[in-house]
Amino acid sequence: MQETKSISEIFGTQVFNDTVMQERLPKKIYKELKKTIAEGKELDLAVADVVAHEMKEWALEQGATHYSHWFQPLTGATAEKHDAFLSAPQPSGKVLMEFSGKELVKGEPDASSFPSGGLRATFEARGYTAWDCTSPAFVRKGANGAGGILYIPTAFCSYKGEALDQKTPLLRSMEAINTQSLRLLRLFGNETSSRVTPSVGAEQEYFLVDREKYLKRKDLVFTGRTLFGAMPPKGQELDDHYFGVIRERIAAFMGDVNMELWKLGVSAKTQHNEVAPGQHELAPIYAECNVAVDHNQLVMETLKMVAYRHGLQCVLHEKPFAGVNGSGKHNNWSLITDDGINLLEPGKTPHENIQFLLVLICVLRAVDRHGALLRESAADVGNDHRLGANEAPPAIISVYLGEQLEDVLSQLISTGAATHSIKGGHLHTGVRTLPDFARDATDRNRTSPFAFTGNKFEFRMVGSRDSVASANVVLNTIVAESFADACQRLEKAKDFDIAVHDLIKEYASEHQRIVFNGNGYSQEWVEEAARRGLPNLSCMVETIPALISDKTVELFERFGVFTRAELESRAEIKYETYTKAMNIEARAMIDIASKQIIPAVVQYTTALASSINQIRTACGEANISVQIELLKDCSTALASAKAALKELITLTEGAAEYGEGRERACYFREKVVPAMEELRAPVDKLEMLVAKDMWPMPSYGDLLFEV
Ligand code: ADP
Ligand code: MG
Repeated sequence: MQETKSISEIFGTQVFNDTVMQERLPKKIYKELKKTIAEGKELDLAVADVVAHEMKEWALEQGATHYSHWFQPLTGATAEKHDAFLSAPQPSGKVLMEFSGKELVKGEPDASSFPSGGLRATFEARGYTAWDCTSPAFVRKGANGAGGILYIPTAFCSYKGEALDQKTPLLRSMEAINTQSLRLLRLFGNETSSRVTPSVGAEQEYFLVDREKYLKRKDLVFTGRTLFGAMPPKGQELDDHYFGVIRERIAAFMGDVNMELWKLGVSAKTQHNEVAPGQHELAPIYAECNVAVDHNQLVMETLKMVAYRHGLQCVLHEKPFAGVNGSGKHNNWSLITDDGINLLEPGKTPHENIQFLLVLICVLRAVDRHGALLRESAADVGNDHRLGANEAPPAIISVYLGEQLEDVLSQLISTGAATHSIKGGHLHTGVRTLPDFARDATDRNRTSPFAFTGNKFEFRMVGSRDSVASANVVLNTIVAESFADACQRLEKAKDFDIAVHDLIKEYASEHQRIVFNGNGYSQEWVEEAARRGLPNLSCMVETIPALISDKTVELFERFGVFTRAELESRAEIKYETYTKAMNIEARAMIDIASKQIIPAVVQYTTALASSINQIRTACGEANISVQIELLKDCSTALASAKAALKELITLTEGAAEYGEGRERACYFREKVVPAMEELRAPVDKLEMLVAKDMWPMPSYGDLLFEV
């Protein structure tokens, strides 16, 4: 029998965490390292040498043979290169297991093949990875426990120090929000907190399909989503999958995922079935922003790896199947001090909590000032199928505050002072044996992209496949800006109480248009938002200009998060990413239609035609109207498909004539995407006509309901 261990025995066993460091490092070194971490200073090389040695010894005990500087280039995924703990052979022919402080602190992968958006010319290949000692190193092993690798979370920069990754700006933005939050806290007389960190909890949605079926779907394999597929008779209309009983095969998978994540110190907490058939969710307990971002990458990688072991495929695309919900990520965000104060905690009587009201109003102002930028931070190719498409959040950024806070806000705006807070009251169940609950003062709104949920904001736009880094870089920086602007005013004020009161009222009045508590999916909201002047950016390509607008450049340069050149390079990369992804999708469609679908339909219609002939010969009077009608319908749809295919080929090839960057991205968006839809329509019709055993790939029904 397998030995069963409790979560507390397993948790973090593969992490070089604080406990391990305390146990292993000499006291003085441990203190130095902690100081460096707390103050964000550069690590002394002598200290690094000792840390590296102990880290290596610990990793070897875990079965590691290699170490890797683990980083997050602008591909959305993580990158790693493994180096063995190995010195050159000694004269004796033996080797030593080596790992120096220098190797721990700095690495130099050849950076020339990572996207840099023009920050580097191709001949300038140097790029550096630098240890982020605020995110702990960990050992990851293969399926059989073999081949352990020590992963060292790192930031990735160019020779000139420009950020080539997600982590560098994230760490810079955390500095910005820390500085400005402390400034704000001091104004309210807090002299004890010494650090403010954004806390992030990223809820992850995903689909699971059977791996053998997955391999027969070249569209899923090449693009991560289905490019063809007729709706099965049943979709998600019964809501019977959402929170439904988790089937055994899936439960076994989830059990293994949790185990792997716990070992890596990721506090996987909640799991459930999601709305669409085959869709599930995993949520960890929140952590410090940069650790949470790293952990989310580990969650995605672990889901994929464990699925593989279970004969499943984890599909992380934002919209793998048309007709049922897509997947996203809810980015829960709050600000917490090192001594445990949550700046977004309203308390029982928020109207009296001036510090909370100021923080809240500053967040509203930040989101209103930079709505388009926040929207951009969640833009990726797959998300275009979700946002604004009557599911998940709409593409328009607004903030949901809930009844209680909205009421406080309107008191502030109308009378200049808030005198009371709506109470939650009691929930009467009407059942004698059930207790009456204390009801929350605020209900939820699932249609809002940015909702206040008790003591945190939940940004619901991020795509399921995307890193949550960009969203947090933006959140941290835009809120830092509002805090800084508020502090600038308040620090000069003669009477703080009056000044803060006026400021809250002013910001609230100025930015109340961003608050919306109604149904975000409705057409009325689209019209109302337009009246309010809120941006409605339904496509990734249209969001990218927000990344390089003067307002954005000024914002990021002011807080040292991005330079203009870095922003321009990121915009360039985004246009390129869009173009490449769409080009792959178009080519995958062309490939599948030409080599699989059209031949299958030809085969089917040929068989149909010869059976018509055979029946005619056997019995001239037989009623063959059904066969003939079917043959006609198939042939008509086939002709449409062939014409659409030809057009798609021409348009895809035509892309080369357009300039790289925005111009070509727009071309794909405006010309190629509609042509893809034109091809899909007759093919999906054909799928409903052709005999199932002759259709060349598993159907939606097979993929979604037979896992
Ligand atoms: P909800 O019911 O609002 O969805 P949950 O308690 O289920 O909230 O939490 C959802 C996610 O939000 C989890 O990952 C959780 O750890 C995270 N979370 C909870 N509190 C905070 C906070 N103060 N800051 C950031 N994330 C938080
Ligand atoms: Mg939630």
